[in-house]
Amino acid sequence: RAKADGRSVFRFFESQMDSDARERRMLEVELRDALKNKELELYYQPLISAVDRRPMGFEALIRWNHPIRGLVPPAEFIPLAERSSLIVEIGDWTIEQACRAAASWPTGMTVAVNMSAKHFRLSDIAQVVKKALANSGLESNRLEIEITEGLLMENPEEVTIKLAEIRDLGVTLAMDDFGTGYSSLSYLLKFPFDKIKIDKSFIDASSQDPAARDILKAIASLGKTLNLRITAEGVETAEQADFLSTIACHQLQGFHFSPPLDSIDMPRYLLANVPTREAEVRAEVESV
Ligand code: C2E
Ligand code: MG
Ligand code: MG
Ligand code: MG
Repeated sequence: RAKADGRSVFRFFESQMDSDARERRMLEVELRDALKNKELELYYQPLISAVDRRPMGFEALIRWNHPIRGLVPPAEFIPLAERSSLIVEIGDWTIEQACRAAASWPTGMTVAVNMSAKHFRLSDIAQVVKKALANSGLESNRLEIEITEGLLMENPEEVTIKLAEIRDLGVTLAMDDFGTGYSSLSYLLKFPFDKIKIDKSFIDASSQDPAARDILKAIASLGKTLNLRITAEGVETAEQADFLSTIACHQLQGFHFSPPLDSIDMPRYLLANVPTREAEVRAEVESV
């Protein structure tokens, strides 16, 4: 009996695996048309100044509006896109789209774009960035590129050259998910980063664990020494925000302030939270 049960359990796993693989293949095929069918959309999540608690910019976060499945998160389809050169098309589109959007925002607002390591490797990435800036008219100092340390592990010489090319354009380089990898610290010294984004897991832990708060303090002081700006991601409570402000984090990002915003909520948010130059002048005049 035990033997028979074992076998049927095995068959169950086997068929489950098949159907997962089938499902992924189907999604991959559909993803090829997603761009053409305008099913991809960028959401924007505010990056808040820890000092005055006002938005300084936004991170672009991609979504797939699947006609049947609904909203598919990037964790599910970016890996699929990375299995083929589809990631290049999607990545090019994302940078282009994000720069165009940011060019329409009030002056000074920055936009951060996540870059897949595969996209970075497969294309002349500085050229892609340069073209997106030129097409949109966005000033280069308003664009940030976020990369994870996975990118830095292979071919460090080639990666260094490409990163330097991007940085020479005047674009900000941020290390995303800082602290989750194996060599975050050595990479900070080796590559030309301007900014680190501390991974949400440390922010989560800081609510309960004094050791996590000590680590955050250490990262903040390291940032100061290395002249790096610090963003904390996944800030969900006022207590976390206040603690991060006291240790001199520069930017806060998370549901406590705002979720990623779609094309309906984004203009509303801008209107409510970001004074335009015009409105500022009006306020100045009125206060005299
Ligand atoms: P990430 O770059 O670290 O982005 C932060 C993720 O945390 C986002 O998930 C965001 O929605 C989520 N988040 C923000 N604040 C909070 C919070 O307070 N609580 C919680 N629980 N979550 C929060 P999302 O949008 O699902 O993106 C997941 C990952 O997918 C991103 O992690 C990034 O690595 C990747 N990704 C997103 N958009 C793109 C893109 O356009 N291109 C590429 N290559 N990757 C992308
Ligand atoms: Mg990111
Ligand atoms: Mg991140
Ligand atoms: Mg993260």
